[in-house]
Amino acid sequence: MAERAGVRRVVIVGGGAAGWMTAAALGRLIAPTGVEVLLIESEEIGTVGVGESTLPHIREFNARLGIDEAEFMRATRATFKLAIEFRDWDRVGDSYMHPFGDFGAPGGGVPFHQYWLAGRAHGDVGELDEYAAPIVAARAARFGPPSSDGRSILSTWDYAYQLDASLYARFLRAFAEKLGVRRVEGRIVDVTQDPASGLIRSVRLERGEVVEGDLFIDCSGFRGLLIEQTLKSGYTDWSHWLPCDRAVATPCRGLGRTEPYTRATAMEAGWRFRIPLQHRVGNGYVYCSAFLEPEAAERALMEALEGEPIAGPNHLRFTAGQRTRNWVANCVSVGLASGFIEPLESTSIYLIQAAITKLIELWPVHAGDPRTAAEFNRQMDLQYERIRDFIILHYKATRRDDSPFWRQVREMDVPDSLAARIELFRETGVVADYRDGLFQHPSWVAVLVGQGITPPVAHPLARAEAPERLVAGLNRLRATIAEAAARLPLQDDYIARHCAYEGGAQSAA
Ligand SMILES: Cc1cc2nc3c(=O)[nH]c(=O)nc-3n(C[C@H](O)[C@H](O)[C@H](O)COP(=O)(O)OP(=O)(O)OC[C@H]3O[C@@H](n4cnc5c(N)ncnc54)[C@H](O)[C@@H]3O)c2cc1C
Repeated sequence: MAERAGVRRVVIVGGGAAGWMTAAALGRLIAPTGVEVLLIESEEIGTVGVGESTLPHIREFNARLGIDEAEFMRATRATFKLAIEFRDWDRVGDSYMHPFGDFGAPGGGVPFHQYWLAGRAHGDVGELDEYAAPIVAARAARFGPPSSDGRSILSTWDYAYQLDASLYARFLRAFAEKLGVRRVEGRIVDVTQDPASGLIRSVRLERGEVVEGDLFIDCSGFRGLLIEQTLKSGYTDWSHWLPCDRAVATPCRGLGRTEPYTRATAMEAGWRFRIPLQHRVGNGYVYCSAFLEPEAAERALMEALEGEPIAGPNHLRFTAGQRTRNWVANCVSVGLASGFIEPLESTSIYLIQAAITKLIELWPVHAGDPRTAAEFNRQMDLQYERIRDFIILHYKATRRDDSPFWRQVREMDVPDSLAARIELFRETGVVADYRDGLFQHPSWVAVLVGQGITPPVAHPLARAEAPERLVAGLNRLRATIAEAAARLPLQDDYIARHCAYEGGAQSAA
């Protein structure tokens, strides 16, 4: 295929969540411009088989593709997600939540946490968590879609899903194939590059078939078949800041109500996730192999299961970091092939979506355009680095010293960009704003305050309020949020009415 000609054929390598999200988006948005989209996957190799908790951005992705929410939720057996609960992270016995939404009511002169800080100095105003409607609803296992009236307390949240990522890939496969994306089954055993330009020309399957393309999207998972094994991108290793390098995962049966939140419980050498779906609960222990053996991690996970395990434990290895260049020559890496910053804040599916969105925005005039590649890499580096800092914060801001793992992470040096943010907040209560980047103001406040970093004084504008009025106003708001959340239906009832999978509709009543 001609080197400087526009992109006429895209070859996606890999059929996990990354591959099929890419195929669905390109099938919907790029194929109509005359570009052929083809996906190669190998059933024999399979997918990573984990990844169930998402961020609210997935709703934009689905909406842009024209996917109906109820149909998607039935197909992926999804539940709603309003927050992530962190247990035992600052000190054993603690719990706080990172909500998808804002603290406080709409309006106000300075960020809400400043009023809360000012109020605390004068009386009992409760915990910050009590001022986030999505947290209060999540703790009561309740859910309702947010109101579109920006003045209402019911407009202060957003939501994501907890889903079966393999079913999501299957759902998107059917969606993409209907749009004309061609799927090729087979294991790739060889890659041919143009000797002069280094561009990938074709891949060869085990059975001999050669598939040519202009633009290759590497969605081959951790192995990075094209981006690393062929194009030698390199890997930026962040394990000195994020030392967890293994996971053991197993789903189990759920008992009782289904909570609209994911739980991350700190453990001796890492943390354990619990993700309730409609039909089961996903569980895993993400840990650091320098401090824990796989057998001990598996034992700890199995002991913590609330219901009978449904599948055998799946052991995985990874190195926290990202490809040094996400786009090399005419190959763009998406998903685990592009990097992995461990699953603590459920950011991988978001990063897949970000890469697809940027690829479409920057669609190259010819597939090996180095300017486009450089801009894509710049934007993806920013995404990765900001997520990296946010996740490191959870480890660094701990007062735990009950195991070698926790002593190591609380004492480690962190990136300067993060150290500066922590210090600014510790001294002033101000969160430095990002123009770009995934986690915005309320997310940082939730984790900083949740992990015990409380500034000594509030902003002068918040302190200017008369103390009695401030305390009374805060307590009224707390009550309003509690009442609004209590009026929402239980999530199980909401799902039973709107989006239960066939055979799964069970009311919590
Ligand atoms: C413990 C753990 C927990 C996680 N939790 C979350 C979470 O809660 N939320 C979240 O967003 N993400 C999570 N993730 C990340 C999530 O699993 C992945 O981002 C997601 O599944 C996408 O994976 P992928 O498609 O990039 O790779 P894979 O699923 O590994 O797919 C790779 C594909 O490439 C194909 N392939 C590979 N080599 C070849 C070859 N030679 N020839 C042909 N085909 C080939 C395979 O057959 C497969 O189809 C988690 C990851 C781990 C390890």
